[in-house]
Amino acid sequence: MSEAHSMQLDTLITNASLHNRKGRWCIGINHRQFSYVGQTFTGGANYTIDANGKLLLPGLLEPHAHLDKTYTWQDGDAALPPTTSALRQAIVRMQAVKASRTPESITVALRRALNRAISFGVSGIRSHIDIGEERDLHTVRQLLAVRDEYRDLIKIEYTALGSCDTLQQEKLLRLALSCGVDHVGGAPALSADPRKALAALFALAEQVNKPLDLHIDETENPTSPCLEALAELVVEHQFKQRVMASHCCSLAFTDTFTRSRILTKVKVAGIHLVSLPACNLVLMGRRDLQPKPRGALPVDELLRANIPVSVGTDNVGDFFQPWGDYDPLRSAALCAEVAQIDEPERVFTLASSAVASAFGIDDYGIAVGNRADCSLLDAASLREALSESPLRTHVFFAGKLILQQQLQQQWS
Ligand SMILES: [Zn+2]
Repeated sequence: MSEAHSMQLDTLITNASLHNRKGRWCIGINHRQFSYVGQTFTGGANYTIDANGKLLLPGLLEPHAHLDKTYTWQDGDAALPPTTSALRQAIVRMQAVKASRTPESITVALRRALNRAISFGVSGIRSHIDIGEERDLHTVRQLLAVRDEYRDLIKIEYTALGSCDTLQQEKLLRLALSCGVDHVGGAPALSADPRKALAALFALAEQVNKPLDLHIDETENPTSPCLEALAELVVEHQFKQRVMASHCCSLAFTDTFTRSRILTKVKVAGIHLVSLPACNLVLMGRRDLQPKPRGALPVDELLRANIPVSVGTDNVGDFFQPWGDYDPLRSAALCAEVAQIDEPERVFTLASSAVASAFGIDDYGIAVGNRADCSLLDAASLREALSESPLRTHVFFAGKLILQQQLQQQWS
């Protein structure tokens, strides 16, 4: 913690509460970094904000979104059916809608989603992009253009959600990666031969030397093989790139012994798991059965076992999840409720530092020398922030104040 009291700051935030320290704090920002964290400050600043006890949080991180599909569910669209094939039916309906979308409608939805995320203090977001047909490459180019447009407001990473099941599909996946998509992705459990599909995606990632970010075992089948097979491949091949596995719903349906065996392998392989409770609650267990199985990752168990895990939002406003918003605190709070985690600090980690580790960000958090991504919330504590979806009154990205918001209420 810096004790330099005579320095000149670009921005000084006074009287801030921090989630992991008691008392009120002065936070200094110079250029793109935090340059001062202390309880008093006697130097100068070009711009000062009195936080008046409000909570200052580091930039929130979203590990798993689908920006290419967002806001495609229209009021009046038919509900998903009460069957175990809801996920496959959502895929079919999304394919049909894709054919009627214009480049303008995709860009409008994308900007709306990013603006929502930024308004919630999100500084980094990773989105999957469907790669299965030629027109998806046009969408890739649009998403890359919008990433460039937003480069001073939010960091965006993309994963190509495709397959190597046919030569044509593999060719498209390679083209997407060569355009600038960052990671190899896919959903091998949906293929006719999941093990073969997984092995082919893994081989591609090895060959192009890109990280893997997979939808894994998004199924109620307790013997779905992909997560265990992925862990074995990573260890066997000494895969050096980062590996992220999302959903892993089958872990919620399998027995304790099997889950323990798989998770031991996951830990050895260093795979980061992502829980996506909102979509799991919407799509899993969708049939007339009581008690209703829900399929959300047992995050409480993973935390106890020290398995790297974070929480993501997944789909928002589309056939996979007609509800939702781009507030990672909302997703973290839902995860807390589903997984019965009661400590705010453990819950917050799932949408912040755990994701930073998975993304490979080593200058994350409110500390001198770290990148100054942060937001001031209209909340006095982390429990309030997680419970009440408070307004982010000031949002900073790379040291710059990019958004201010005010709540106006008029009681009569
Ligand atoms: Zn997803």
